[in-house]
Amino acid sequence: MILVINCGSSSVKFAVIAHETGEQHLTGLAEKLGSADALITFKSATGKSSLPLVPNNHESAINAVITELKVANLFDHITAVGHRVVHGGAFFHESSLITADVLDKIRACETLAPLHNPANVLGITVSQQHLPQLKHVAVFDTAFHHDMPEHAHLYALPRALSREHQVRRYGFHGTSHRFVAAKAAELISKPQSELNLISAHLGNGASVTAIKGGISVDTSMGFTPLEGLIMGTRSGDVDAGLLPYLGQVLNLDNTGVTDLLNKKSGLLGISDLSNDCRELEQAAADGHVGAKLALEMFCYRLAKYIASYLVPLGHLDALIFTGGIGENSSFIRAQVLKQLSFLSFTLNESANQSCVRGQAGNISTGTAAWVINTDEEWLIAQDTAQLTS
Ligand code: ADP
Repeated sequence: MILVINCGSSSVKFAVIAHETGEQHLTGLAEKLGSADALITFKSATGKSSLPLVPNNHESAINAVITELKVANLFDHITAVGHRVVHGGAFFHESSLITADVLDKIRACETLAPLHNPANVLGITVSQQHLPQLKHVAVFDTAFHHDMPEHAHLYALPRALSREHQVRRYGFHGTSHRFVAAKAAELISKPQSELNLISAHLGNGASVTAIKGGISVDTSMGFTPLEGLIMGTRSGDVDAGLLPYLGQVLNLDNTGVTDLLNKKSGLLGISDLSNDCRELEQAAADGHVGAKLALEMFCYRLAKYIASYLVPLGHLDALIFTGGIGENSSFIRAQVLKQLSFLSFTLNESANQSCVRGQAGNISTGTAAWVINTDEEWLIAQDTAQLTS
C-alpha cells in the first residue's frame, strides 16, 4: 500500500491506496493549520472521525496521520510514500525518487513557490523521520508541462533574463491533466500518441491544457498559478501595466497587489458574493447581477482559451472537463460548449445533466466533450509504486 501525502500551505491531505486496485483504505484532511480551530478528519470504510490539532502545524498533522495508521493496523503495510510537490522548477520533467540531491533541488524551488514548496519539504522530511526505511517519491504539478515548446513556455522578455532568473511559464495541475488525458484515451479506445486533447481542470484554481500525443504543448497557468483563466479568487490574465497602477491608486506594495489579484479577485471579486460556483449559480438563478456576470466572464475566458488551443493542436479529438466545477456544473459546461459550437460541439442535454457527482461521460454528440473525474492521489500512488518496486 502507498501512503500519499499532499501538504498545502494550510492543509495536509493524505490517502492510503492499494495501488494495484486503487482502493483507498484510509483518507483524511488536516485543515486550518496555523489557526486555533485546526482540525484533522479521517475517513475509512468504518466511518468518519475528527479531532482538534494541537499544536496546529504540519508536523503535528503528519504525526496524527502516523498515529491513526498504527491504530488502523495499516502502518506496517505501507510500502512507499508518494508526495505531491507543487514546483519542480526547471529540474524535474517526471516524478522522482527522493534523494538528498532531489530534496535540495525541491528546496531550491522554494523561491518560485514560496507558499507551497516549503510545506511540501516539511511533509517529506517529517514523514521520512517516521518512515526512514521506506522509499519516498516526489510527484510534481509542473512536471507534465516541462517539455512545452520554447515558443509556448517563454515570455517575450530578454532571453538572457529568462535563463538567468528561471523565468518561464511552468504550468500547474499537471498531475490532474496527465490523469484525465490518459483516462480519455482509455474511454476513446485510442492510444494517447494519436490523440489531440484539451483538458479543462476547473476547481478553485483552474487551468486548461493542450495535449498533443500525450504531451502538454500549452497551458494557461504560467510562472505562477495566477495566469490564465478566471478562478475562485484569482483574476487570471490581467495587463501587467495594471499592477503598478493598482499599487499607486490603492497605496499597496507588491504583496498587497499580489494579494488582491490572488485572494480577492476572480469569481469572488466580480460577484462581490462568493468564490463558490455552486453558490453563484443559485444566486444567478435568483437574479443576482454580480453572480451572473462572474459566471458569464468565467465561461467566456474559458471558451477563448479552449479555442486558442486549436492553434497548437490543429484539430481536436476531445475536450475534457474535470475538477469540482468541470465534474459537476452542467450549467458551466453547457455555456462553454454553446460558445464553442463552431468547433462542432453539440450538447447532449441528458448526458450533461447526468454527468455529476462522479458520473463520467461524453456530453456532446459532435466533437467529443468528456466529463472525467480526476484522481491525482491515484496517479501519485501509481508513480510511487513504479519508482519503488
Ligand atoms: P479545489 O481546487 O479546492 O480542489 P474543487 O476541485 O473541489 O476545488 O472545486 C471546487 C469548486 O467546484 C467550487 O467552486 C464548487 O462550487 C464547485 N462545485 C462543486 N460541486 C458543484 C456543483 N454541483 N455545481 C457547480 N459547482 C460545483
